[in-house]
Amino acid sequence: MIYLKTDEEIEKMRVANRLVGATLAEVAKFIAPGVTTLHLDKIAEEFIRDHGAIPLFKGYQGFPNAICVSVNENVVHGIPGSYCLKDGDIVSVDCGVKINEYCGDSAYTFEVGEVAPETKKLLQTTKEALYEGIKYAVEGKRLGDVSHAIQIYCESRGYSVVRELVGHGIGKKMHEDPEVPNYGKKGYGTLLKNGMCIAIEPMINLGSKNVKFEKDGWTVHTKDRKPSAHFEHTVAVRPGKADILSTFELIDQILQNK
Ligand code: MG
Ligand code: MG
Repeated sequence: MIYLKTDEEIEKMRVANRLVGATLAEVAKFIAPGVTTLHLDKIAEEFIRDHGAIPLFKGYQGFPNAICVSVNENVVHGIPGSYCLKDGDIVSVDCGVKINEYCGDSAYTFEVGEVAPETKKLLQTTKEALYEGIKYAVEGKRLGDVSHAIQIYCESRGYSVVRELVGHGIGKKMHEDPEVPNYGKKGYGTLLKNGMCIAIEPMINLGSKNVKFEKDGWTVHTKDRKPSAHFEHTVAVRPGKADILSTFELIDQILQNK
C-alpha cells in the first residue's frame, strides 16, 4: 500500500529531513582520525533530541543506536562502537528522525583524512548516481526508471550495485511501500505519482556486488572486503522535477571549512 502525501504532509516531512541534514552536518564536524564511531552516535543523538525529535533508528527492531556508522567495507547498518576512525577510512553515516509524526532519512559517506584516489572516485560516483536516480523521481515515470538510472551510471563506470538492500517509501513510518532497488529495468515497476515519498539510497561497491551479513545481526560488509559507499536522500515525487526533502547543503558547508 503506497500512501500519497498531501502538500501539508510533505512540508512536515521536509522539517524532519532538514533536521537529518543538520544532524549529519553536526556529525561531520567531529569526523577525524582518532574519533570513535560511538562518539559520533552520541553527538547525533544529543543533537536530534535537543531539536525535539526522536532518533528513528534507536530501538528499531532492536537496533541499539541513533545512527548507523559503516566504515570502509561495511556497506550499511554498522553499529557504533569502540572503533577509532583512522586516516584513509571512509565512513557512511545513516540517520533517521521522527518529528511531528513524520520521518526523515538520509545518509552520507565521509572521507577521513586523506583517502585513496580510487575510493574518492567511488564516493563521487555514488553521490552522482543518487542525483541521477532523483532525476527520474517524477510523476509519470516508473520506479524502474529510477533504479535503472542508478545502476547504469555505476556499472558503466566499473562499480557494482548491492542487490540485497534497497531504498523505500517513507512517511509516518520509516519503511513504507514501495521498495526502491538500485538496479532495474527502464519503463517497469510502480508508476510514480505526485505526493509519493521515497528514500533513494544507492549502495555501491568498488569490487564485486556480493555482501555478507555479520553475526551481530546488523552490519553488512562486502564479501571481497573492498570499500562500499552509500548516499541517501528522501524525495517527494512531483510533476516535472522531484522535490528533495533532505539536504547535503549543511554538510557541504562543514566540509568546505574543514
Ligand atoms: Mg537511511
Ligand atoms: Mg533509508
